[in-house]
Amino acid sequence: MEGKMERKLCSKSDQPLREQNEEEKAKTSGSLTITKKEIDRAQTDHSKPRKDVASAGEFSDPVYKKLARLNGEVNKMTKDQLKAKLTELKLDTNGVKEVLKRRLKNVYKKQKLMKARIKPPGSTKYDYLVVIDYEATCEREVDDYQHEIIEFPAILVDVADMSIADEFHSYCRPVLNPKLTEFCVQLTGITQTKVAAAPKFPQVLTSFSEWMQGHHLGDGHSFAIVTDGPWDMSRFLHMQCQFSGLDFPRWARKWVNIRKVYSNFYQCRRCGIEAMLISLGMTFQGQLHCGRDDARNIARIALRLLSDGATLKINEYLTQSTNRRQDRTGEVENVSPSNPVPSDICSEDELETGDGAKVTDEVKAKVKANKVDSELSSGVKQLSLQDEQDDGIEDLLAYYKLQSS
Ligand code: AMP
Ligand code: MG
Repeated sequence: MEGKMERKLCSKSDQPLREQNEEEKAKTSGSLTITKKEIDRAQTDHSKPRKDVASAGEFSDPVYKKLARLNGEVNKMTKDQLKAKLTELKLDTNGVKEVLKRRLKNVYKKQKLMKARIKPPGSTKYDYLVVIDYEATCEREVDDYQHEIIEFPAILVDVADMSIADEFHSYCRPVLNPKLTEFCVQLTGITQTKVAAAPKFPQVLTSFSEWMQGHHLGDGHSFAIVTDGPWDMSRFLHMQCQFSGLDFPRWARKWVNIRKVYSNFYQCRRCGIEAMLISLGMTFQGQLHCGRDDARNIARIALRLLSDGATLKINEYLTQSTNRRQDRTGEVENVSPSNPVPSDICSEDELETGDGAKVTDEVKAKVKANKVDSELSSGVKQLSLQDEQDDGIEDLLAYYKLQSS
């Protein structure tokens, strides 16, 4: 197999001849041969796909067998072979082996499905992603600290254009602990002068809502909030809204935890911003724990995931219990085929769950009644994301320790 693979990883110099031969071969076999021309064609072929995965009877098309074989071959490739193949296809060669494998497999998948005129399962369906990374008041090693948000950045990612469309940014003036601790200043780089001159959180939240309206987010344009972990919404915003006596915003009740998308897509351990960037062959730009820089770097990871073919979709939400005044951290639920986002916090088109799988009408009806039967959704389970562990307070504390170590 290794020898066969090497032969196929030929140099660029014999490209035209190779393309011709490989196109011929690809017609008759499901081999690892794919040409740049084919990729371009797959990417520009907008003719209506013939079949939908769901309606095609769950992977009955022979193309899936071919894809399984291709994936097996990609799994056996060395890092150098992966890089050579990606170079040949004029694709990014940055990243660890797992990243490269996923990138190559995705290209094959896209191309083969397109050729078989099957609609590739699941793509990021939002017009925009809104990446948020709050910074908050803090003190070293105080577990039950009453955090107040002191930096509110949001990066608007245009999904179709694969670009940063706009940024929202404001510092916020804390009220309970108006003087930042030395630890907080050191960690975040946010100075006392900046927060002292800033508006209080309720005013900033209003400005943010206006910014969202200005971009017609949720009103003409679909969007999803993207965060690094569940804590921005479940802890910092939750705590802040309780403290400020504000209703928890509807848009903040569900989000895309990028760590989960990343680890599920590249099949690697869940990790923080810096580690994700390193695995992608990138480096953190700016200062870690500066909210704006954190958010910009998360947006870079999101763009990388999008271009590698990952589907960014809501994977966590806050339960109703967020209204309980005594809870500082809202209860986070993982989204899965058997646990779609409840109908009171999502529109019907957000009921899609799992890796490209759509919940059935029957499940939709149950979700509407807020009763979800896992048996009913078992038909889409084979497409689901790997089981998610709960990111609770223990994770948050472990995360703090990791960050400060
Ligand atoms: P981050 O997005 O990782 O920059 O963290 C968001 C917020 O979490 C910070 O503004 C702090 O309030 C808090 N935080 C992060 N790391 C620590 C730490 N090591 N100890 C205490 N609080 C922390
Ligand atoms: Mg941050």
